Amino acid sequence: MSASTQELQQGFQSDALLAWYDDHRRRLPWREEPSPWRVLVSELMLQQTQVRTVLPRYETFMELFPSPAAMAEAGEEAVLGAWAGLGYYRRARALFAISQRLVQDFSGEVPGDAKTLEQLPGVGAYTAGAVASIAFGQVVGLVDGNVERVLARFMGEGSPLRNAAGQRLLWNWANNFVDDKRPGDHNQALMELGARVCRPVSPRCGECPLHGGCQGDEKWSEIPNLPKRPEVVPVVEENRYLLVDGSDHVAWRRRPETGLYSKMVDLPEEWTPGVDAILLGEALIERRLSHRLLRLKGRAFRVQSLPSGWESGPVDDFLHAGPPKAVALLFEELRTHSEVC
Ligand code: SF4
Repeated sequence: MSASTQELQQGFQSDALLAWYDDHRRRLPWREEPSPWRVLVSELMLQQTQVRTVLPRYETFMELFPSPAAMAEAGEEAVLGAWAGLGYYRRARALFAISQRLVQDFSGEVPGDAKTLEQLPGVGAYTAGAVASIAFGQVVGLVDGNVERVLARFMGEGSPLRNAAGQRLLWNWANNFVDDKRPGDHNQALMELGARVCRPVSPRCGECPLHGGCQGDEKWSEIPNLPKRPEVVPVVEENRYLLVDGSDHVAWRRRPETGLYSKMVDLPEEWTPGVDAILLGEALIERRLSHRLLRLKGRAFRVQSLPSGWESGPVDDFLHAGPPKAVALLFEELRTHSEVC
């Protein structure tokens, strides 16, 4: 480490950061009661999903699955159903696999060491660091998009950070900076600072607890590689049919074992209207998936009888089975526009 880097690190005001966090932190249920299982579930939920989407669903989910054993016993379909609305269902499947592994190999307890946590299905260095530091007080750092931006600006690092060498540098800084008395709060403070003060564009350096020692203070825009480049996202168009019979029953199917939304219930994608089919309404929704934009076009038809080979039943049965968020949204749009069911 060069002397200048050492000096920069010594200028990192951990006390000021923690004082700012104590005054400004959001009261979130997994922070108020940070048991290892609650923290682990919250971290999986918060990957790629905003706090405001997670908040109304978190406690209900925890009541259904208060422990790894309860989740493992409930089964994957129950977990997928309860995950409805959070999107990115790979995380729900990973969480269920974690619960099974914890029951089998860890007596139903979450391990408290980051390296052990990283061996669980779907748990990377970030999630392992978050659970170990927040729930167990292990002195380990973590790097997410917000922490990356804060640390890069603080250190005045202008070289690319999205490659292997850059990531090593960031993790070294994160581990060197972490407060050894309050590591969990320190990590949450850095993430919260990145989200609310050290924002990608127009950071509020004047309000920042780190501004005295920060190389990016007031000249953040001179540090390259930090603002995200605009993404070009491919658009995928799909069709869905809402078929309603005279008893207001609808048709659905369960998706294949692999691929997008695997094993979840879904509306028919292909169907040819018969002469007796009456078009009730149409709707279009768009939903951002991890690497693409899904554009779903839906059409609702009243039919004499539902096609054979599909499952069918009342609308509530379909919705309670937990269709993907995009399909559930389309369903509600079709209901609104066609006044069916
Ligand atoms: S002083 Fe400005 S650039 Fe530096 S960490 Fe704070 S908000 Fe970010």
